[in-house]
Amino acid sequence: MLLEGKKYAELINNETKEILKDLNKHGIHPCLAVVVVGNNPASAVYVRNKKKILDEIGISNIDVTFSEDISKEDLENKLDELSKNKSITAILLQLPLPEHLKKDTNEIMSHICSKKDVDGFTAENIGNLDLYKNAIAPCTPTGIIKMLKYENVEIDGKHVVIVGRSNIVGKPLAKLFLQENATVTICHSHTKDLKKFTSDADILVVAVGKAKFITPDMVKEDSIVIDVGINRIDGKFIGDVDFEHVKEKVKMITPVPGGVGKITTAMLAFNVCKLI
Ligand code: NAP
Repeated sequence: MLLEGKKYAELINNETKEILKDLNKHGIHPCLAVVVVGNNPASAVYVRNKKKILDEIGISNIDVTFSEDISKEDLENKLDELSKNKSITAILLQLPLPEHLKKDTNEIMSHICSKKDVDGFTAENIGNLDLYKNAIAPCTPTGIIKMLKYENVEIDGKHVVIVGRSNIVGKPLAKLFLQENATVTICHSHTKDLKKFTSDADILVVAVGKAKFITPDMVKEDSIVIDVGINRIDGKFIGDVDFEHVKEKVKMITPVPGGVGKITTAMLAFNVCKLI
């Protein structure tokens, strides 16, 4: 079965619209500040897609753009200002930051007030995810769990293997699967005999950033494969999974494009409302 992002994005958007309706009824109008530094072309596409969904749902959003050469201190001051601004309820800092700021990403991020941190990237929100079941968490992992729940996939007691340990995908996703009582294995570039783990997975999530990295011999028959990877090869988007061959062997699989990416974008609007 193909797990198509469009279907789940629509379901998430419907949930978001209901929450927004209720907020509006109480005179609450969420507003997201979309902070972009420089003009990374890939980021521009992601931001456009995110804003399109926000506009469709009816969530106010403002662009806050800075030139490529902004200093760390100036950017931090601007994030402090946005955090204090009462008309802004959520802040998104589009990553990656330009080269001279990249190594300070976590420090810069800490200038976003945790209550407005729509991606769940601040230290407080990362900790909250350990402590509380309904904490704000990054959009890709929360969207993946939602998709599996929409399909009534049993997670309890299943072996979930996640390849990739980023703060955006792998680590928070492991916490969310643990909350659902899965047995979780996280693999990374130092993992020895990766295939031993991936081929034992009931649910395999791949977030590596290497095209067609997961081949059919690495997956278990009738398992569920979720491909987070986005690789641009010869102008085409390709996932981390060798989709054409792996799809024959597994029970459910997400395509690239048209899979996790669409769900992630929808989750942003959901998180804007959840922060209230
Ligand atoms: P990332 O920061 O790019 O890190 C890649 C991860 O893969 C690291 O944990 C790395 O291990 C691991 N890795 C690299 N080579 C490996 C190997 N040979 N064997 C096992 N693990 C290996 O991760 P990310 O930010 O999560 O991004 C991963 C991919 O997902 C990218 O293609 C990105 O564009 C995509 N992405 C898509 C969405 C979406 O909405 N669909 C959202 C976020 C990201 P180490 O930690 O040891 O280096």
